[in-house]
Amino acid sequence: MKFVDEFREPQLISRTADEIRRLAGSGRHYRFMEICGGHTHAIYRFGLKDLLPVNIELIHGPGCPVCVLPMGRIDDGLSLAQRPDVIFAAFGDMMRVPGTAGSPLEHKARGMDVRIVYSPSDALKLAKANPGRHVMFFAIGFETTAPSTALTLMRARAEGVQNFSVFCNHVTIIPAIRAILDSPDLRLDAFIGPGHVSTVIGCRPYEWIARDARKPIVISGFEPLDLLQSMVMLLRQLQAGEARVENQYKRVVPWEGNRAALRAMVEVFQLRPYFEWRGMGFISQSALRIRDTYALWDSEQRFQVPGVRVTDPQAAQCGEVLKGVLKPHQCRLFGRECTPEHPIGALMVSSEGSCAAFHNYEHRKAATANRLSPIA
Ligand code: SF4
Repeated sequence: MKFVDEFREPQLISRTADEIRRLAGSGRHYRFMEICGGHTHAIYRFGLKDLLPVNIELIHGPGCPVCVLPMGRIDDGLSLAQRPDVIFAAFGDMMRVPGTAGSPLEHKARGMDVRIVYSPSDALKLAKANPGRHVMFFAIGFETTAPSTALTLMRARAEGVQNFSVFCNHVTIIPAIRAILDSPDLRLDAFIGPGHVSTVIGCRPYEWIARDARKPIVISGFEPLDLLQSMVMLLRQLQAGEARVENQYKRVVPWEGNRAALRAMVEVFQLRPYFEWRGMGFISQSALRIRDTYALWDSEQRFQVPGVRVTDPQAAQCGEVLKGVLKPHQCRLFGRECTPEHPIGALMVSSEGSCAAFHNYEHRKAATANRLSPIA
């Protein structure tokens, strides 16, 4: 398949891994954060850590939108959907994310009308097909998915569809990176920049990371060769004493971003003064709300939202894992109380969550190896 096979070509991968080993040498320990949950998933899925020298450490960042959503927002959204006339629509990723009284799927089992949709426009179609009900779309995601929510709201307004609203949980990536860089307990050398988000926002919004924080950042694709090439580019910058934004994912990411998508976002959304991130606390100007001109389609302006705040179970260490301070398996609940079958934190639910990725690939690999190893 074009754009896939050539980025999984074994000889090229092997040569690039050799180049990484050559550049990394052995004297220095490198800590690279992959911001995006899609990268975390790819790193585990393709076993890329096994190709890296021990002095390159990958730190998983906060770029999984399901994982950073605080439990109170899930409770708020589900509380609106208690009304018998409401249909709760959300992406499949959201369905098993636990709220205080259970996940959307568990609420569905108790009788709530919960539907999985593949896009916000599917939710709008659902509203048109059910004129006697109200469809509330539970929107999550970074700038990657925010434009499609914006375009759907523009369409709902243009077509005068009034039984549809959006419970908006869209967040923005740059303030989260800033919060990570401000974190005193985390030392990083460079960033593997998010590929999907950057298709929308482009590369310019990262320039301050190189200029002010003096950290190299390479926007990367998701195939094995993409990620390995990005690490070569980071190592070359570090060896040259440089800090620049580079775009490894040029086949998809335009330097200036997607102007049409950005215009749609500006038309529909404005920045919230602050928003709570799971495990990271309140981060200023880090999320989007729906503008008053679209108030009729904003679940929060249309209905009474309780505004619940919920703290995670005390033993859960999702915050430390989200900030990259702990590895998934270092959480005291990992693999015991918290598993993909019985998740306690959202990082164990989404395929982009670092705990789920670690559990599904590394943990199972280790468990299988232990089963297969001869008894000493
Ligand atoms: S193992 Fe579970 S509780 Fe621990 S950090 Fe991961 S998701 Fe959170």
